[in-house]
Amino acid sequence: MRKRVSVFVLRPRPGLVAVVLCLALLLGLRGGLAKGRLQQALAPSLFGVSLVIDAGHGGADPGMVGGAVLEKDVNLAAARCFAEYCRAAGAAVTLTREDDAALSDSKRADLEQRVAITEKAQADVFISLHCNSFVADPGQHGAQVFYAADNEEGRRLAETMQRALSEELGNTERTALPHADSYLLKNIDCPAVIVEMGFLSNTAEEEELASPDYQWELGWALFCGLSDYLTGS
Ligand SMILES: [Zn+2]
Repeated sequence: MRKRVSVFVLRPRPGLVAVVLCLALLLGLRGGLAKGRLQQALAPSLFGVSLVIDAGHGGADPGMVGGAVLEKDVNLAAARCFAEYCRAAGAAVTLTREDDAALSDSKRADLEQRVAITEKAQADVFISLHCNSFVADPGQHGAQVFYAADNEEGRRLAETMQRALSEELGNTERTALPHADSYLLKNIDCPAVIVEMGFLSNTAEEEELASPDYQWELGWALFCGLSDYLTGS
């Protein structure tokens, strides 16, 4: 049975909320973000949420390779930005990896480890970050979110996150889709998605994905999507 995100009973503590708001405002200003959107998204809805952020690949497994950019590096950088916003809003965040290392020598065991970390964290939400590549058509671009067809909450999470990515980044018209075959999505029971943040096979998008400014924008857009999902907006 799929796990649903519970409704959290909040006991607002003005001092703590003020600290969180200040920190988040600082983070938002760093990314050049609209103050209104920032404050709207900073409802303390992430208090009590256990979130697992999975930076895809790592170590000997680079994932997709652009001209000079490795997917594993973009995934980790964006995961750190995303995690920072979520922690500022009160979530308990677990990163499946904190540095450039695979979780095991074999691909299968690596993926099993990511599932085990998610179970141990008793995750309410699992979000795996990746980059796409399609060298046959270098014009392909834009972030896209995938979910398991039999995970209804995963579908709602994916659609909400896709909408936030479209609104915040303004550069993707893609829609959320069920993933045909993902070990992670098949084996993780909580609401779970894979976010393909863009195409390394597109020269302009590759340059953006490798840019720290854009990685902060990605982190913010992902945070907005998660916040919208948890608040049902
Ligand atoms: Zn990948």
